[in-house]
Amino acid sequence: MNGEPDLFVGGTWVHACDGGTRDVVNPADGSVIATVDEAADADARDAVRAARAAFDDGAWPATPVAERAALLDRIADLLQRDKEELAVLETRDTGKTLAESRIDVDDVTSVFRYYAKLVGVEADRVVDVGDPTVISRVVREPIGVCVLIAPWNYPLLQMSWKIAPALGAGCTMVAKPSEVTPLSTIAFVHLLEEAGVPPGVVNLVQGSGAVLGAALTDNADVDFISFTGGLATGRTISRVAAEHVTKVAVELGGKNPHIVFADAEWESSVDQVLTGVFLHSGQVCSAGTRLIVEESIADDFVAALVERAEKIRMGDGMDPASETGPLVSEQHRAKVEAHVATAISEGAKLLTGGSRPTDPALAAGSFYPPTIFDGCDRSMAIVREETFGPILTVERFTSEAEAIGLGNDTEYGLAAGVRTSDAARGERVVRALRHGTVWLNDFGYYTAAAEWGGFRKSGNGRELGPTGLAEYQEIKHIWHNTAPKSAGWFTGE
Ligand code: NAP
Repeated sequence: MNGEPDLFVGGTWVHACDGGTRDVVNPADGSVIATVDEAADADARDAVRAARAAFDDGAWPATPVAERAALLDRIADLLQRDKEELAVLETRDTGKTLAESRIDVDDVTSVFRYYAKLVGVEADRVVDVGDPTVISRVVREPIGVCVLIAPWNYPLLQMSWKIAPALGAGCTMVAKPSEVTPLSTIAFVHLLEEAGVPPGVVNLVQGSGAVLGAALTDNADVDFISFTGGLATGRTISRVAAEHVTKVAVELGGKNPHIVFADAEWESSVDQVLTGVFLHSGQVCSAGTRLIVEESIADDFVAALVERAEKIRMGDGMDPASETGPLVSEQHRAKVEAHVATAISEGAKLLTGGSRPTDPALAAGSFYPPTIFDGCDRSMAIVREETFGPILTVERFTSEAEAIGLGNDTEYGLAAGVRTSDAARGERVVRALRHGTVWLNDFGYYTAAAEWGGFRKSGNGRELGPTGLAEYQEIKHIWHNTAPKSAGWFTGE
């Protein structure tokens, strides 16, 4: 960073082989906050080769579980030691508030602590094959060389959800953060080095996905690709990796419904619908962007939301008074603006927001205000497509069946919320919704111990929980005959 090498290959920090660099911009004011090395295709190939060599010839895959767990715990300690520094980097790079970035570092720490415990607990299985001379075991082994690709909205957090289980399983890896937000990942890899991760086990290349994609995903030396990002990139990676029959787990976007019944507790419902969609300016894969509200309360509920949305204080994430920061980049703001223009042209009724803030203090940043559209339906792109910005659409229902139908009427299936004070109805609706996480009378929470991932076009993998570790493991069946004898099939007569 700023002259120091930023690519980590085979245990050495190096510059990009072609001298490429990239300016990293603070979206709150458009200023350049760092210049980092921008990897070329050859750097990514070197990184995969280093990970391959560390897996095939290195000690890490066979390192005892207790040592791997101890390393994960050391990483957690260092994350807490450097919490403030990491949080500040994340805020300046992504625009999110410092309070959110601090929570991210705590969450990341809990993921390392969780896998430090889990790797020692997940036991092998002994299978009874009906022959007392045979010992049949099913064992877990590290899957091999992993490519870990993360997006820009939660750079440190999304990458850690991959690195923690990959290390715990005994894999080696190449990490590629988003080119837009590489700073916290670079700092984190320095911290992994300090914790004692052996050379070649974790390699880091940051740069354009379009440039590095082939080296990282169309590569026979790679055993597993864990990708978090958009649907289009997920499709491309899955297609390319299929050529090598490389296992791929994709964690993709969402268009998440938040269903509010008339009997829902009022205050917490208004508050959580608001937080669920406008936190981090809506740049959250699980943001509750589709409000599906019972007709009898819809007018009052939406009016309450508009009133609260207009009071949300936008500003630089470093300012403690800011409740939400800017969008991640000018390019992303242009995409959000295009979605809003389409929504208006398709007949959605704009209730608040919908254009850049006029406050001169926000003029240099990529700010976009909380925006609410009423009168929406599935014929509109704004209801079907992921905007990844601070946009809430309102749809109305009159029956439970209609609410479920609307909640499932999306090609995605990442997350959903249901709000009702009728426990039986709550249970019926959460079971009927086809989404990977469903919150009942809550929204947005997760824990390291429970799986995260999507149904349908929101992806095909799971992170966190025991399944998040299993993604990085191969299953091997060992059939051991303790009293060898002939099969007796071909008699030789
Ligand atoms: P993106 O454009 O798909 O990029 C994600 C990552 O893939 C970036 O590191 C990107 O690098 C890289 N990439 C791009 N093209 C590639 C290629 N051909 N081969 C290999 N890598 C490539 O997504 P994004 O805009 O950063 O992130 C937003 C999306 O992530 C949203 O759809 C959001 O819903 C989703 N998301 C999902 C979850 C989840 O848990 N399901 C969590 C967070 C975010 P560059 O940045 O250099 O292009």
